[in-house]
Amino acid sequence: MHHASSWRKALRDLTSPLGWQDVLPEYVFYRGVEYADEGRVISWSLQDGVICGVVRGAADYRVLLHVDDVERSRCSCPYGGPCKHMVAVALHVARETRLDGIRAGQPLDLDARLGVIADGEVPSYVAEVMAARPDVSLLVRAARFVHTAPARWAHGVSLSTLEQEARALLLAADAIAQGDAAITVRRDAPPPVNVTYTDAGWASAERLIQAFAEALAGAAPAAIAPYAVCEFRRLVARFGDDVPDDYSYRHRALFRALAAPLATAVKRIGELGEAAVDAWRAWSLAKLSEAACAEEALVALSALQGGWLDAHHLRAACERIVAFDDFPRPPGLDGCVPHVPWIPRPLATLIEENWREMIDFALQVGDLAAADEIARMRPVADREADMRLAEAAMNALQWAIAESSLKRTATRLSSADVWAMLAHVMDRQGKSDGATSCLREAFLCDPTGDRRDAWLARLPRGARRDAVVQCAHLLLNHRQIAAACDLLLHEGCVHDAWRALEAGLQGAEMWSPGPGLEGVMARLAAEDADRLVQLVARVALEAIGLRGRDAYRRACRWLAALHNGLTAAGRGAAWDEVRAVVALESRSLPALRDELRAAGLLP
Ligand SMILES: [Zn+2]
Repeated sequence: MHHASSWRKALRDLTSPLGWQDVLPEYVFYRGVEYADEGRVISWSLQDGVICGVVRGAADYRVLLHVDDVERSRCSCPYGGPCKHMVAVALHVARETRLDGIRAGQPLDLDARLGVIADGEVPSYVAEVMAARPDVSLLVRAARFVHTAPARWAHGVSLSTLEQEARALLLAADAIAQGDAAITVRRDAPPPVNVTYTDAGWASAERLIQAFAEALAGAAPAAIAPYAVCEFRRLVARFGDDVPDDYSYRHRALFRALAAPLATAVKRIGELGEAAVDAWRAWSLAKLSEAACAEEALVALSALQGGWLDAHHLRAACERIVAFDDFPRPPGLDGCVPHVPWIPRPLATLIEENWREMIDFALQVGDLAAADEIARMRPVADREADMRLAEAAMNALQWAIAESSLKRTATRLSSADVWAMLAHVMDRQGKSDGATSCLREAFLCDPTGDRRDAWLARLPRGARRDAVVQCAHLLLNHRQIAAACDLLLHEGCVHDAWRALEAGLQGAEMWSPGPGLEGVMARLAAEDADRLVQLVARVALEAIGLRGRDAYRRACRWLAALHNGLTAAGRGAAWDEVRAVVALESRSLPALRDELRAAGLLP
């Protein structure tokens, strides 16, 4: 003989992949879900705790599902071992039995027993759902009842009327919450209109709350969840206030039992506005921590898709839990996470498993400190998440968080963006040396990119000049003379640009000028054509001095760059001198003459 509630619990476990995790792969579970959704379970019956179902697949397969011990289950399909047909049966039966109490038993006329829900009393989307779902309809009525009963009584509604309403409510709630359980309500039971903390009154309250919780966790459709959650909260609050000492243990036990449905409910209200979610989760946590069930509180938190980690509330909850000494201390509190001493271990485990969602959620609700903590505690690095966190922190002027997340990213991958962002952060913190060196790294990663000006624009004048000079040095080291000079000229550092050109041209007879140099030469020629001629002509003559076609060719390229630069700056006259010198050289060097002609430098 199976106890109805334990049987239901076992069945309910089988509606989630966790219930099957040891016996079949998750994808098989989801195939089973599809089967159930497609209505492939064509019949089922229950005998001695075993469900016999027929599932339509390639053929009709017969399933014997032992809900208490799945591994003893059998299916006539060729798969062998636990299969999708079993999952389909479990889901199908779980779904059907939830409403069976109403469908199969005598129909509950909720309007007659509990009064009509008037037009406009609930939002229209709630009314629509109520029309199709007796469980939801009950939920709303129950909420209304609990809410209004004391006032109605005070205004003359008879106690027997309220008693009838309450009993109908309980009957319906029981029927919905445990569709397969026998319902026994003693006729002489005291009416649960007011919470009068008698054992029977308490039992009624418990039952009603549980019914709500179950409806909320399982059956209420998504559209109703926000509304239902709100009413549920009021209901629980009513039963939770000022509990006499005699009942405090039961009170805590009740809330402990509520943890799972609460967690599910919290999870379902993701579509609510931020403020509502906030209020709800704060309340849930307060309730759960009152009940001294740290683990449940943490599970409820993690059920926000690993979501919410409000440092303040969590710490308060943990402190409260630790302060209870008449209650078994949850094993999770024995050791603590070193980095965040007040986060008990179970949460660390949750972070390990859900850090991605948790960081997203924390960012979504703007709890940057929490996001940062989670990021530090997570088992693997994640550049994307760190960048998003850093950006959010920068927007919020939380420089320390931005810096720490960027550093995490930077140690893994030194991209220009990371360094530029880090430079920005350092700069805002007044660490101009740090900012400069980060920017230098950024330049190193991408010395000539279009983002350069944007990076520079972020630096204050003092740090900016230093950064530019340092970067120019780096560019010169990479023999990017044009980029170095261009950068310095762009920043108005003409003097430094000349020095860079001088330094860059050391040994330049050994190589040819790179692209972009002509523009630089044009600008420098406009400043001081003679000085430019001196510098570049020397390179050309040194190249010629090396002798050989290759050297002549290099010399010609330097000369061509100089020529074009001078011409562009309108200093063609300065070129004539150079040409005269080179022409003289070429008299005794026919190969040089050929090259100069080929480059268009001699007629
Ligand atoms: Zn099968």
